[in-house]
Amino acid sequence: MRRESTITLALLALLVLALAGAPLRADPPERVVLVQGIDSVVPVTALRVLVDPDGQLLADQALASLRAEDATRVEQWPPTYGFTDGVYWFHLSTFNQSHADSRWLLVIEYALLDQIDLYVYDPAGARTHQRGGDREPFAARRFSHRHFNFAIDIPRGQSRELLLRVDTESSMQVPLLLSTETRFLGSNQHWQLELGTYYGLLFGLLSYNLLLFFATRDRSFLYYVLYVASFGLGQANINGLTFQYLWPNAPIWDDFTLILLIPASLLAILAFTRRFLELPMRAPRANRALEGLMLAMAAILVAAPFIGYRLAIQIETASVFVVAIVAIGSALSAWRNHMKAAKYYLLAWTMMLMGIVVYASVSFGLLPKNFYTEYGILFGSAAEMLLLSFALAYRINELQRENHALHSETAERLEARVRERTTELHAALGELQGANRRLREYSQRDGLTGAHNRYFLDEALERGLAVAYERHEPLSLLMVDIDHFKRINDLHGHLAGDSCLCAVAAKLRSCIREADDFVARFGGEEFVVMLPGADIHAAAQRAELLRSEIEAMRVTHADKKLAMTVSIGVATQPGDQPGHARELLQTADHALYRAKSLGRNRVVLANADDHPPAAANR
Ligand code: GH3
Ligand code: MG
Ligand code: MG
Repeated sequence: MRRESTITLALLALLVLALAGAPLRADPPERVVLVQGIDSVVPVTALRVLVDPDGQLLADQALASLRAEDATRVEQWPPTYGFTDGVYWFHLSTFNQSHADSRWLLVIEYALLDQIDLYVYDPAGARTHQRGGDREPFAARRFSHRHFNFAIDIPRGQSRELLLRVDTESSMQVPLLLSTETRFLGSNQHWQLELGTYYGLLFGLLSYNLLLFFATRDRSFLYYVLYVASFGLGQANINGLTFQYLWPNAPIWDDFTLILLIPASLLAILAFTRRFLELPMRAPRANRALEGLMLAMAAILVAAPFIGYRLAIQIETASVFVVAIVAIGSALSAWRNHMKAAKYYLLAWTMMLMGIVVYASVSFGLLPKNFYTEYGILFGSAAEMLLLSFALAYRINELQRENHALHSETAERLEARVRERTTELHAALGELQGANRRLREYSQRDGLTGAHNRYFLDEALERGLAVAYERHEPLSLLMVDIDHFKRINDLHGHLAGDSCLCAVAAKLRSCIREADDFVARFGGEEFVVMLPGADIHAAAQRAELLRSEIEAMRVTHADKKLAMTVSIGVATQPGDQPGHARELLQTADHALYRAKSLGRNRVVLANADDHPPAAANR
């Protein structure tokens, strides 16, 4: 980056130098001598100049002064006097020594001069007058050409004195040329082709980028197009092409357009720069400077028609340098902020500045005048616009890459978030399942005793019977009822009764051995014990054990030790028959009923009578 900026600064310095000075020429001969074989002459040293500050001199008065021995010779080429209020007279003596062609042209290769008067004196003192300049309609020229051209007849062996009066609001530049008509028309072909190439390139860039604007809607393309359009038109105006082709009968308007086109193109390049370099985001300070400058340009654009051509063009010419410096400074800022496209932008400006330097060098005679040097600005600006177009494409590419990176980053983050969420969801699901399990557990338990409830009993008994039948195993039920429980309630209160219920349930649960065994509370003080796999004898043994242990048990309640007994009915579903919960419960209940009626505190096994009328049921 440092190298680039050094180059840019060096170019600017060169530019200033080029504008500051120009070399002087050696002693001139007195007149231009036309000889056979030389068809075009730049009268570098034979030209004399007279300043007429008030524009009051008549042609003959001017001629007299210019003929004098001490008349001022033009000391720089091309004759350039900047913006000046005076009228300039130029004098040139010609002598056709040996040229066969007598039809010559005086050409002025600067298209912005307002008013030109050419007086041609023959040796006898007779005078002809022609008028030209961009205030005259285009048709006034000898040939329809972007440069002013006047026909002069100089027969072989004769001399002619040319007196030229120039009055203009533009910069006073009078690059004169004497040329045969044939030569002029011939060389014109080359210029036309080369200029055509330049404007063709501009037009191509313009229309292509306009299409890109419509395709992408990125405003930097639009600003670019506006810049190319206004710069190209301005350049065409300076070359005399707008007058020749666009409005040949509107000389005043043609004069006027340049002072509008310069601020317009500066405004466009500033808008382009601001957007292209993403200044609001990358370099806020440069951005403010640039916005201020844009405002100034807009003001100049609006004010130009009112302040007059002279003042407008001077302000605008100075603005070009300010804009170039601010634009290059902004690009350096953006580059420092890691914008890669900025280097192409800088390169583009470097091209433009080189073109300007070359152009200026030619104006001051530092470089030979030929198409390539004379039209340095054209080359520079063409290279600039090409590079800017490339820079735009590069920037779009860069934006796309950034977008893509952002996209994949977002996708990754999204994925991580989804993973996180899934884990959270799994955890929540696990918790929910646990809660569900606990809830089901609660719904299957009796609140007071912790034994399974009636709802669970119905389901589990049905399932247990099916499994037992599948396995050809018996399944036994004990129906346990506390004897005279009402009395305990009555004597000791319901809380004592509750304690007894809990103690019995605990005792019943403590004798469960198999995984499938369980105790359920059947009703108020009745419990059911399910014993899968136990036949009637095993069940009877277990029942008897329970009965005796409960009889021996004492429940402590309010300092009292309470004793109780239970009656147990035992029913068994044999393994070779399918069983039904309701029927088996009923059978056990019958046995219990008999135990009660036989005097309580005993175990009674169900017999055939206890079975419900099974055959009838089925
Ligand atoms: P039996 O020997 O004939 O079974 O006489 P019993 O008094 O035990 O039978 P009964 O069916 O006449 O009375 C049962 C009593 O159980 C009636 C009711 O107040 C009591 N009971 C039912 N559920 C609960 C309970 O959850 N807590 C308490 N404390 N008492 C209950
Ligand atoms: Mg009872
Ligand atoms: Mg009861």
